[in-house]
Amino acid sequence: RDGARVGVWDAGMAGTAGVRSWELALHAQLRAAIAHRELVLHFQPVQEAATGRVASAEALVRWRHPERGLLPPGSFLPMAERSSLIIDLTWWELEEVIAQCARWSRAGVHLPVSANLSARMLVVDDLPRMITRRLAAYRLPPEMLTLEITESALVSQPARAAAMLGELRTAGVKLSLDDFGTGYSSMEILKALPFDEMKIDKGFVMDARASLPDAAIVRSVVDLGHRLGLRVVGEGVEDEQSARMLTELGCDLLQGDALSPPLPADELAALLTSGGMG
Ligand code: C2E
Ligand code: CA
Ligand code: CA
Ligand code: CA
Repeated sequence: RDGARVGVWDAGMAGTAGVRSWELALHAQLRAAIAHRELVLHFQPVQEAATGRVASAEALVRWRHPERGLLPPGSFLPMAERSSLIIDLTWWELEEVIAQCARWSRAGVHLPVSANLSARMLVVDDLPRMITRRLAAYRLPPEMLTLEITESALVSQPARAAAMLGELRTAGVKLSLDDFGTGYSSMEILKALPFDEMKIDKGFVMDARASLPDAAIVRSVVDLGHRLGLRVVGEGVEDEQSARMLTELGCDLLQGDALSPPLPADELAALLTSGGMG
């Protein structure tokens, strides 16, 4: 799979001084990478559990590094998130996601897209305006875009984050609570924020395969989501057995390598138009 190179930047690092100069070098390279268009988005399809129809696709960033090959987000996003680079990266990512979705639409592929939003973005006041402007510029209906936010993103400044997400929701953008079950204040967050969707973390999904208590938890999480009017996505579906189990436990949608890994945009479109999925 394309995520096999996590930690490649850790090789040969020693001591804090080493870490600091390594981080500075990486920071400069990533800044240049955005300008030189070395970042790319891959798209992982999300399928209806009942029918297999592809309902949407999640955009996942990769760095096409000239020497190191395709780098997964885990090897550079944490560093970007420690600096203002995450803001530049997010503007790039949102522009790219919206442009791609509009391109697909024009080509007759009606595919809603999800973009991951870093915690740091929830205090950038420009965010709702920037998003609504880009959607308008590409004439894309706002409901074609879902923003995925993790629970942990919402704990540091909950009131401010809630106001911003409320603004986006009012503009018609969909909101998804990502990695559900890994945070602390899940219930409070679900109560306070206008989510459309909940994604059950892949850790849960994997554990549920082997353990009855975990399966019971997944079932009640699905139930909770449904009672709150949310659609529920099971992610990290690595095999047939997980797909079947999550469907039985009531998940509406499934995502994972067993169904399809994240793909370049044109490969996904080719797959969809050839009827190769769903
Ligand atoms: P996430 O939002 O939970 O995304 C799902 C991750 O699970 C992706 O990893 C995806 O490739 C991986 N995955 C998909 N199917 C399977 C499976 O069957 N088994 C397993 N074990 N993993 C699977 P990826 O692409 O490495 O992204 C990791 C995280 O980095 C994402 O987790 C998300 O939090 C963050 N991320 C990725 N792209 C972006 C981005 O453009 N912006 C922001 N802010 N964060 C991003
Ligand atoms: Ca996500
Ligand atoms: Ca997730
Ligand atoms: Ca995650």
